[in-house]
Amino acid sequence: CGVFGIWGHPEAAQITYYGLHSLQHRGQEGAGIVVSDGERLQAQKGEGLVTEVFTEEMISKLHGQSAIGHVRYATAGGGGIVNVQPLLFNSQNGSLALAHNGNIVNANALKHQLEAQGSIFQTSSDTEVLAHLIKRSGFLTLKEQLKNALTMLKGAYAFLLMTENELLIALDPNGLRPLSIGKIGDSYCVASETCAFDIIGAEFVRDVLPGELIIINDDGLHSEFFSYSTSNAICTMEYVYFSRPDSDIQGINVHSARKNLGRVLAREANIEADVVTGVPDSSISSAIGFAEEAGLPYEMGLIKNRYVGRTFIKPSQELRERGVKMKLSPVRKVVEGKRVIMVDDSIVRGTTSKRIVTMLKEAGAKEVHVCISSPPMKSPCFYGIDTSTHEELIASQHSVEEICKIIGADSLTFLSVEGTLDAIGRQGYGKNCGQCMACFTGEYPTEIFSDTLLPHEK
Ligand code: 5GP
Ligand code: SF4
Ligand code: MG
Repeated sequence: CGVFGIWGHPEAAQITYYGLHSLQHRGQEGAGIVVSDGERLQAQKGEGLVTEVFTEEMISKLHGQSAIGHVRYATAGGGGIVNVQPLLFNSQNGSLALAHNGNIVNANALKHQLEAQGSIFQTSSDTEVLAHLIKRSGFLTLKEQLKNALTMLKGAYAFLLMTENELLIALDPNGLRPLSIGKIGDSYCVASETCAFDIIGAEFVRDVLPGELIIINDDGLHSEFFSYSTSNAICTMEYVYFSRPDSDIQGINVHSARKNLGRVLAREANIEADVVTGVPDSSISSAIGFAEEAGLPYEMGLIKNRYVGRTFIKPSQELRERGVKMKLSPVRKVVEGKRVIMVDDSIVRGTTSKRIVTMLKEAGAKEVHVCISSPPMKSPCFYGIDTSTHEELIASQHSVEEICKIIGADSLTFLSVEGTLDAIGRQGYGKNCGQCMACFTGEYPTEIFSDTLLPHEK
């Protein structure tokens, strides 16, 4: 998912709309904006893309100086308008809007406890748990209620909360998801990725720290920590695949990181070939880096129909396969008679790679060598990226040689774990260079419970 918020700007709703639009790649299932005019909160949300959900008229009716917004990323199940965020709760002592990026791994257990105590949940999302925990805590101020509630949550979360009086921002103690603060004029804003700041003309201020709680109101910005047992475990897949290339995550530009991943991959693969091609859009940067390092021409061997959404989001395997066919086409003149290196960012189920190898061979490629700019994904992600279950992860079920056969490639190379850490270049951040590598190594930075749900199981 993607979150955006702004405090104290006459065009809060408009700006949030543009912010969300730049974060559209983080979720296409639904979008929502809640504005505050200082007296009441007003929500507008719907299923689909930002441009599908909002009309100019709707935005112009969202009056207020502050806003938070959300783009929703989810797969089969857990859909429906009730789960589109921000969630809005009204009560006698004011309203509360809530937007979340991540996944709470002990949500099920907390939900059972809360229900036993009388809570009634409106949604099937883990996000609502926080609202109930806040309501049930005995503390007087929202800040104390929130701090207390956050200590009970485990997992990944970048939270934005808004009331009539303040905007609260919280990041989980491992800093699993990216979250940054910006400033436009005198107004602070917050976004999942820095690309949102560029689009609205805001300047980057700083990243939110693990375990940090930031409160923004008319007096300015105030920071404190709700957890002191923090570590750095930013999601590696944000660099590899998820984030936009023009975003910087903790000071490292995503495009540059991907280019480096490609460079290191070229050294590790060391394959003889004629051309290198990427898979638009996600692996273009790494393919360019690969080609540079290998001293081979980078060519557009595949083009993408830009009017098809991300294939991964489609629920069934059959639909996913059809999606890939609609989305990519080979450029025959580029690949015919050539030994082609096809660089992609990741293999999850193997759908994309298999289709592309077939496609390139049908278009006349003599050899197709698949090089992946991340390690084999052997374990599911419980932190909000839908990388699927053990059973569906091809690298959890098969060896590299077997996968190579299944996808029909002449060779298959994955980037090593060390190569991945090296390439992204976060030395000095501590363990795993301060990155979560759980989907590759199976070492999760938080506890995982037997009833922890994957994003698409909700
Ligand atoms: P596969 O086709 O192997 O199941 O998925 C890998 C492909 O899906 C890659 O080309 C990658 O760019 C794309 N992809 C789309 N969404 C995701 C996601 O959420 N995680 C990962 N790892 N890859 C994704
Ligand atoms: Fe990211 Fe993988 Fe960790 Fe999930 S398990 S947060 S995809 S690095
Ligand atoms: Mg891709």
